[in-house]
Amino acid sequence: MNEQLLARIKGCATLPSLPAIAVQVLELAQRDEADMGEIARVISKDPALTGKILRTVNSSFYGRAQTISTISQSLVILGLQSVKTLVLGFSLVSNLAKSKSKGFKHIDYWRHSMFGATAARVIAAKVGIVQQEEAFLAGLLADIGMLVLDQVLEEEYGQLLEGYKSHDDVSRLELASLEVSHAEVSGLLAEQWKLPPILRTPVTWHHNPEAVEDPALRKMTEVIRLASRCADVFVDADAAPAIADVRAFGKSVLGLESEVIDELLGQILTKTREIAPLFEINLGPTDTLENILKRANETLIQLTLQSQMQSHTLQEQNEKLKHQALTDRLTGLANRAAFEQESQRLWDQAQATGMPIVLLMIDLDKFKSINDTYGHPTGDETLRTVGKTLKMAARAQDLAARYGGEELVLLLPDTPREIGTVIAETVRRAIESKPIVNGDVQLKVTASIGVASWEKGSPLKTLAHIVKAADLGLYNAKHSGRNRVKVFNPRPQIAAA
Ligand code: GH3
Ligand code: MG
Ligand code: MG
Repeated sequence: MNEQLLARIKGCATLPSLPAIAVQVLELAQRDEADMGEIARVISKDPALTGKILRTVNSSFYGRAQTISTISQSLVILGLQSVKTLVLGFSLVSNLAKSKSKGFKHIDYWRHSMFGATAARVIAAKVGIVQQEEAFLAGLLADIGMLVLDQVLEEEYGQLLEGYKSHDDVSRLELASLEVSHAEVSGLLAEQWKLPPILRTPVTWHHNPEAVEDPALRKMTEVIRLASRCADVFVDADAAPAIADVRAFGKSVLGLESEVIDELLGQILTKTREIAPLFEINLGPTDTLENILKRANETLIQLTLQSQMQSHTLQEQNEKLKHQALTDRLTGLANRAAFEQESQRLWDQAQATGMPIVLLMIDLDKFKSINDTYGHPTGDETLRTVGKTLKMAARAQDLAARYGGEELVLLLPDTPREIGTVIAETVRRAIESKPIVNGDVQLKVTASIGVASWEKGSPLKTLAHIVKAADLGLYNAKHSGRNRVKVFNPRPQIAAA
């Protein structure tokens, strides 16, 4: 955050201020027992403002069959909140629109604000937000920070925004050179004006609604974010990126399908055309939505293809990384982490189905002496070869893993102990008979194997018990002379009987 610039903004004497009439109405509305008659009198003293409010409340936005002809009537029919918001909106815009811009595209600014305001109201209504007036005003004021930055920085601001293609680029350009975005400055102004959080929050965070914690305020902020992007659809020379973004954001954040979005865009265009003259904002020539969509279509197809390709590559990369994270680099077997995960799954499955399961704990014999005699690379080659042998021995449903160092494991689901023991013997023989070749070096290696199993009624109750039991079997195999299979027997006395 650029504290220096913020201090400069706060100290600027020519900051936009709340118009006197807005201050008066806000003040009257805040009283405990707001006097509607008094409020109506204050507003009616400004005939231009009164005319604009009446034309607005009789516009298609409100869709009332009965014509509203006085401010008092508006206050009764639409409520104080709506009228107050309209006063604020109209008086601010007529005040601000007079201030001459120093360097940036003033006309685009007002067109964008007008579309944004209408869009916010239309979207708020669609997603069931009650405060549609506030949505309109927040949409209208969201970018007011740009006017402030223009006041304070003068030509520098215009230069900074030189050649921007979409309002969506503005925050990025600002943050890159000023470390402050217009949204923050809009928020600062909203704070000075003591606007309520329902306006202040969406204005401040309209380019990153995910930062808002309060769910109701966040939803309003998301609406303003989407509304601002909808405005880009009508203001940007190339509408395609905005359309793609509006559809993606509308779907993922607000759950709006693209047909609904297109329908909303249509409404936004119609209503903005109707309401802009009341704000004395010149929209200039606006194309039909159909034409805008048609022109954007080709680029949209390209954008979609591009993003599909990106997500495909990303998915591939993710899968590769996941595979790498679960695979032992030397042997290509599952690593310890993968074993912990997968063995638990197979164990749970055995418990659920009642099918027996067998664990083989395999440790190479005198492996240290292979390293010592032939060197570490040959030791590595030995592990690689044994890894391959184990992979060959494993059936599709089995889990072969490197447990650590020169210790490997093979977990055999749906396998009774006798079959597991036969498989252990096969593995032992295969390791013994497969020569290890590394350059000119040729050698043989043997392994000791401990076997433990679980079947229904076994006293071994957990996976950890089975691992421990296989380890004891392995210890037994080592102590009985190595290069052999030893089965852990959980009930030696029963076996003896
Ligand atoms: P025992 O028959 O009792 O199992 O004897 P051992 O020599 O195999 O057992 P010990 O635990 O004393 O030594 C294991 C050796 O395995 C020590 C360690 O340096 C070596 N080792 C562990 N991981 C690797 C590896 O990735 N590559 C190589 N080359 N050696 C390894
Ligand atoms: Mg060892
Ligand atoms: Mg060993």
